Amino acid sequence: MAADRVCILSWLRRSAEELRVQREYLTELDAAIGDGDHGINMDRGFTAVLEKLPSVSEADIGTILKTVGTTLVSTVGGASGPLYGTAFLRAGTALAGKQELQASDIVAGLEAALEGIKARGHAQIGEKTMVDALSPAVEAYKAACALGKPFQEALQAAGDAAEDGMKGTIPLVATKGRASYLGERSAGHQDPGATSVTLLLRAAANGK
Ligand code: ADP
Ligand code: MG
Repeated sequence: MAADRVCILSWLRRSAEELRVQREYLTELDAAIGDGDHGINMDRGFTAVLEKLPSVSEADIGTILKTVGTTLVSTVGGASGPLYGTAFLRAGTALAGKQELQASDIVAGLEAALEGIKARGHAQIGEKTMVDALSPAVEAYKAACALGKPFQEALQAAGDAAEDGMKGTIPLVATKGRASYLGERSAGHQDPGATSVTLLLRAAANGK
């Protein structure tokens, strides 16, 4: 077993804490190429998630993740609300009824989340979005699992790959979202959404 409900709930709590701490940083990144609200959006969404967690503390993992998705859709707004909402809803559907997750379940959840974001945002890798962090993270997680690495190491590899992908957004020209309005001037700045994806994956890797 790689993760049970308690792990998932504690990951969500750590994520909310981290997004609170990094709120200004995410907002500064978004001020450079967007409208300066990404940190505010994510903090608002995950504060609402924290408030919802007691109501699903005995639920299966799929239900917990779907509840996160609907909460983010209804509280975050902007581009990232529907995108993160879809990611959590799709992961929740992929993991419906699960009381605990094996490594292969985590692969399925991550892949469903990534496909959800790509479908909802019509985004591909290289467009300076959250996909540029999540896509390499999913690949790194799968590669680590294929090598038989322990769960925690696989998550660490996913976090490292997300961070590389996040840094890799700096030279890119945005072709999706608000940053695309800047055209070539979006180059030279790190994408806020790729940064929040990295924070969420790092919070998973830093768990007990
Ligand atoms: P908004 O752009 O509406 O203000 P946020 O600032 O909360 O929303 O989120 C911006 C982030 O959303 C971007 O940094 C980018 O990573 C992500 N994003 C925006 N549009 C898309 C899209 N079409 N596909 C994938 N990700 C996107
Ligand atoms: Mg914004």
